[in-house]
Amino acid sequence: MIVDTHCHLDFDRFSDDLDDVFARAADAGVAGYVLIGINPDSWRATQVIAEQRSNVWRAAGLHPNSVSELWDTGLLAALQREVESGELVAVGEIGVDLYRSDDSRELQLEAFEAQLLLAQNAGLPVVIHQRAAESEVLDVLRRHQPVAGVMHCFSGDWDFARACLEVGLHLGVGGIATFPSAAATREAIRQAPLDRLLLETDAPFLAPQPVRGKRNEPAYLAHVVDTVAGTCGVSSASIEEETTRNAINVFGLTI
Ligand SMILES: [Zn+2]
Repeated sequence: MIVDTHCHLDFDRFSDDLDDVFARAADAGVAGYVLIGINPDSWRATQVIAEQRSNVWRAAGLHPNSVSELWDTGLLAALQREVESGELVAVGEIGVDLYRSDDSRELQLEAFEAQLLLAQNAGLPVVIHQRAAESEVLDVLRRHQPVAGVMHCFSGDWDFARACLEVGLHLGVGGIATFPSAAATREAIRQAPLDRLLLETDAPFLAPQPVRGKRNEPAYLAHVVDTVAGTCGVSSASIEEETTRNAINVFGLTI
């Protein structure tokens, strides 16, 4: 049994065959899903999917790439109402992304910190996105540690992994860990305690190595499981068992 702790099944790329996507995932052993709402439209779309199915939970936050366009006090108030609905298992994805440009760096940091505090006040874990912003994100996290949640799409080395673990986070392991070029990330995964790893697809993005370049979907998590098992020198079954237990603990899931 596997839990995909980070997927975007509300995106248009799943609108034609979502039932088939869930069916293939079930055949591959995926028994739970955390849908990640990245902006208010996505909060509603993920809510519709979650209400129609069992073992589908949702997180909501404002993605750093949307901060320039959408961040203001009204957005923060809307997120507060989402949290108060009691339907969320996490706040996210939130964070800092300086990959394309750092024009909005200050605004991204403000939005990240405000949403992090909102989550902590509500007792919810956070789902953190960072790209080209490791030190910026760690600065914020260290000021508010311990931080419950996950460093989503972990693609760093052991130094960054250790820093994430030290502030209290879990590591979200997905397709990147299967890429031949990701030796440093696999080494970080090998050194991390198994009880701090979570599985995620980030579907439709980042399909794992055997299906790299295709639309990613939860069924493909089996490839990630095999890579993590090989990296850690344990069986695929024990990776499934450990990471599912971790997902249940971090997000408070009932499966
Ligand atoms: Zn995502």
